[in-house]
Order: sequence, then structure tokens, then C-alpha cells
Amino acid sequence: MITECGFGILCAMERLTVQVGSFEVNCSILSEGGRAWIVDPGQEAARLLALLAERSLKPEAILLTHAHFDHISAVARLQATFPDLPVLVHPKDIAVIAHPFNQYPPEYPPVPMPKNVRDLADLSSLGGLSDLEAIETPGHTPGGVCYYLPHFSSSPLLLSGDTLFAGSIGRTDLPGGSLSTLSESLKKLADLPSETVVVPGHGPETTIGEERRSNPFLR
Ligand SMILES: [Zn+2]
Ligand SMILES: [Zn+2]
Repeated sequence: MITECGFGILCAMERLTVQVGSFEVNCSILSEGGRAWIVDPGQEAARLLALLAERSLKPEAILLTHAHFDHISAVARLQATFPDLPVLVHPKDIAVIAHPFNQYPPEYPPVPMPKNVRDLADLSSLGGLSDLEAIETPGHTPGGVCYYLPHFSSSPLLLSGDTLFAGSIGRTDLPGGSLSTLSESLKKLADLPSETVVVPGHGPETTIGEERRSNPFLR
């Protein structure tokens, strides 16, 4: 996506994806014109803060695909550094945060309730991300979403959380999970353009076209 970001300068949105924590969650930092949006900061807050500082990026918001501990465990430390940083999460996943299952000591610290939690409906008020769409994809958790950027760089971009993986899908045997619900959610993703680059919550990147061809859950 190319937008004007001040003084007539055109800025392109960029993506940096790193694997964090022992569950190797793909945490993506989307940035444009010095502003950043952090998707699924699952662990390693110090490393994420260093990446932001190296690139002189100011975080505008944290976006969660869902509220499992492996995707949100760095939220508290990021908010300790940036106290006003809002956290966008589907309201149906708020109960997931406090669920006893959602604690995994000692590898992950206890997951406190994030501060400044905002509804996904507030996405449009986060300037610079007007192009980003939250596609509701429940099934792995009740409030799971995928973030879709139809005009990202040369191809559309989908951050699919634990809904869709390369060659597989998210598990549905955890509290609040449902295979029939997830199957309905996957139909929405199957309709996206073939060239859409998919960055799942774990594992390698893929495309919607490749998954339509090879993923038995998407055919
Ligand atoms: Zn998950
Ligand atoms: Zn996960």
C-alpha cells in the first residue's frame, strides 16, 4: 500500500516477521512512515522493542489474531514501555485470556489482562491502517480473526493466525474450539485472491492459491 505520509512523501507499508517464543509464533511488525502495528507479540518483548528502536518505529497498536498465550505474552511488557498502546482483540476472545488453560508456566509468564483493550471496530480509527480488514474466522478460538491487507505491496497479505497454516489448519480441541465453525471460516479465506501471501501464526508462509491446490481443508 502506498500512501502519502506527510510533506508529500510517499510511504510504502512494510512487513517484518520474526519467530518469537518456544512455540515459534510468527510476530509481524507492519510499518509505514515511522509508525508500526505489531501483530501477535507472543514473547521476546525485549527483542521486539529493539527491532522497533533500530528502525525508529513508533508503535500505534497491537493487533491480536486471537488470545492464546503464545500470541500475547509480550503484550504486558510492550505496554509497560508504551502505556497508551491499544490492543485490538475480538471481544469473544477476552474470556480466552483469563482461561486457566491459557497459562503455560514456566516457559511463558502469567498472562495478565491487557490494558487499553479496544474492539476490532476501532480498526478504522487507527490512522494509516484504513486499508486493513479484520476477517472474523472463529473456530480455533471463539474470537479468532485474520488480518487482510488487499493492497499490500505487490500482493495482498493475509495474517492468518492459527486459523490457516501451510498445508494444515488450527486445532479445534482447545476450550472454545469448533471444527464445524472453523470449516465455515476457511470458506471465507478460500475466496481471497490466489496471489494472496499468507503468513500463518506458526510455520512457513504460503499463498491462498497454493492452499486451494494442496490443503485438503481448503478444497
Ligand atoms: Zn492458538
Ligand atoms: Zn499459536
